[in-house]
Amino acid sequence: MTATLTTVLLIEDDSTDAELIQAALAGPEHGPFQVEWVRCLAAALDRLEREPIDVVLLDLILPDGEGIEAFERVLRAAPEALILVLSTADDEETALGAVRRGAHDYLDKGHADAYWLPRALRYVTDRKATERVLRAAEETLFEEKERTRVMLDSIGDAVLASDLSGKVTYLNPMAEQMTGWSQQDALGRSLTEVFHIIDGKTRDIAANPARRAIDEDQTVGLAMNCVLIRRNGEEIMIEDSAAPIHNRNGRVTGAVIVFHDGSQSRTMTEKMSYMAHHDVLTGLPNRVLLTERLSRAIDLAQRHRKQLALLFLDLDHFKVINDSLGHAIGDRLLQSVAERLTACVRTSDTVCRQGGDEFVILLAEIEQPQDAARVAEKVHAALGVMHAIDEHELPTALSIGISVYPNDGDNVDDLMRSADTAMFHAKTSGRNSYQFFTAEMNRRAIDRQIIESRLRRALTQGEFVLHYQPQIDLTTGKMTGAEALIRWQDPEHGFTHPEQFIPIAEACGLIVPIGQWVLREACQQVRTWLDAGLNAVPVAVNVSALEFAHPDFSIGLARLLKEIGLAPDYLELEITENVLMQDTAVPTLENLRDMGIWLAIDDFGMGYSSLSYLKRFSIDTLKIDRSFVRDIVTDIDDATIVSAVIGMGKNLHRRVIAEGVETPEQLVFLRSRCCSKAQGFLFSHPLSVKDFAHLLADDNDALSRQWSSDPRPAPLFITPPRL
Ligand code: C2E
Ligand code: MG
Ligand code: MG
Repeated sequence: MTATLTTVLLIEDDSTDAELIQAALAGPEHGPFQVEWVRCLAAALDRLEREPIDVVLLDLILPDGEGIEAFERVLRAAPEALILVLSTADDEETALGAVRRGAHDYLDKGHADAYWLPRALRYVTDRKATERVLRAAEETLFEEKERTRVMLDSIGDAVLASDLSGKVTYLNPMAEQMTGWSQQDALGRSLTEVFHIIDGKTRDIAANPARRAIDEDQTVGLAMNCVLIRRNGEEIMIEDSAAPIHNRNGRVTGAVIVFHDGSQSRTMTEKMSYMAHHDVLTGLPNRVLLTERLSRAIDLAQRHRKQLALLFLDLDHFKVINDSLGHAIGDRLLQSVAERLTACVRTSDTVCRQGGDEFVILLAEIEQPQDAARVAEKVHAALGVMHAIDEHELPTALSIGISVYPNDGDNVDDLMRSADTAMFHAKTSGRNSYQFFTAEMNRRAIDRQIIESRLRRALTQGEFVLHYQPQIDLTTGKMTGAEALIRWQDPEHGFTHPEQFIPIAEACGLIVPIGQWVLREACQQVRTWLDAGLNAVPVAVNVSALEFAHPDFSIGLARLLKEIGLAPDYLELEITENVLMQDTAVPTLENLRDMGIWLAIDDFGMGYSSLSYLKRFSIDTLKIDRSFVRDIVTDIDDATIVSAVIGMGKNLHRRVIAEGVETPEQLVFLRSRCCSKAQGFLFSHPLSVKDFAHLLADDNDALSRQWSSDPRPAPLFITPPRL
């Protein structure tokens, strides 16, 4: 290893001394030294200004300066250099003074020989190097401490340290803030006094985490629900950990506790968990939470040999309210329903919103199935009261399906499916009712699936036909239109009426291709009659909401009419009030009007809607539902409603057709109220194509032959038996 070169500036006016010194430093043992010699202070200062030097050998008596003053000038010029003062016996005092002021040592010129001088020089340079290392270490340590201090001062976590005996040795500002203890007051106190923690649930004193960290010699987490009691008695939920501190030998000397306010993160965690388990709109448990609770309830019921019940609820006609009054009102109605349902059950039961207008009630423990029936009745009664939302008084009705554990299923899925099936049954067998699940229903559900697959086949195998029912002008007695009504010639089950399969086709979406077939068939039929030279009448076709909602509905229809070559005024579309309420229907309605196709509202009076749409859309015909017509002669309310609709239609210049006219008395009533048209068994049942063609060929004679202005005519048309 080669020693580093040490540069030496010798300030000496005496040439002999200077030469001796230079010679002494020329030896190889302690060097290498590179000596520069100047004779006076001025030259020395000049040299020091130019470049740093490691060692200065300074004679204290120089021609241009001497003593302490000379030393201090050199020191100022070279504060980093090692200064060795060369003295004689006469000025030893001065030399000592220089050492006191910062010189590294002094050397008697008499000892400045080849042995002593290099040793002395090497000694001081080594000492100086050690000092430098020490100073650098001190500086690093200082920086390290400073960095730690700044970090501890600025972090959001509270840090608190204690020694082995459990006395507080340190608090950072956050710990001061959270505990309410200043560092000054806390130092030396018992940790349990400054860091007073309890279990938030039991209120017991919590274990001291520093003690545990020390005893276990590892990082430990704080217990759950840890609450810090501040110096002023306030409480804060905290969380985090404690870790042991080790000395250089690895021995534990204390512990550090790091903690922060846990209430916020806890609130966030709780909030997220709440959101994952609850419905945002109503605040009720959602499907996830219901599943958890149901499976727990099943376990308990199994263990205690008890029963439980599941009520599947579906609001009747909710969609109509939503579509007609808007989603905001719909949402508030659901909230109101949720509140009432909750009020109907015990706190141990669960009311959950499944989504949309479906709710489920879990009765976690029942003695007998009748208990569930009682809840269903209570729910019906509670929801029977109108909901006041803004200026609206809204009615609600519910269809409820009930399944009971263990009879209708012994697991979550089966119980849900059974309750759902029972609910579907309740819906179809008259709304606002409840039904217990029965094995029979299961069979029906399966039947429904069978019908669905048979319907698919029917479409491809051409098993559908259309029948046509005349519509009669009540002033002339002539047929002025016909309604196309679908029939299914099922090879296994014979003729099937639409009421048995249209709802299923609607539920599974098959209604769209079926509807397309009906439209094409009806248009084609009119074309055929026209081509045969018959006096064809416009045909009314029933269109389901789902078909109407299709964005390409009107375009497809325009294409169809063009392809078949049929004028649009030969076609009338019958839609229900509910269809009209959907926002998506607006562009389609406008297109149809522009195309010149007639529009009728079917089953008028059955939907829940505002009448403003009559003004908004160009509706040509109102078809009064047959349930109103049925009792017009006997029921004053129905008579009033029908008269009002006829009057309104007349005032708004709309045609009014009374549906389901079966008796001469009904006809008399309608004519007396100047109803424009009628349709019903009194005139004709729906007819096959062949029979209807006869009627057209007859040029309506069969209908008009017996027509008279007598408002009490005899039955006008002998109809074939109803299929
Ligand atoms: P709707 O459109 O109100 O049709 C009138 C229903 O009343 C027909 O039943 C008809 O046969 C029946 N009807 C006619 N006159 C009388 C009467 O004097 N007394 C009684 N009691 N009933 C009478 P149908 O053919 O069984 O159709 C039932 C429903 O099925 C229709 O009611 C309509 O909503 C739907 N539907 C029929 N064909 C189609 C179709 O092609 N497409 C769609 N989407 N629905 C259809
Ligand atoms: Mg109709
Ligand atoms: Mg109708």
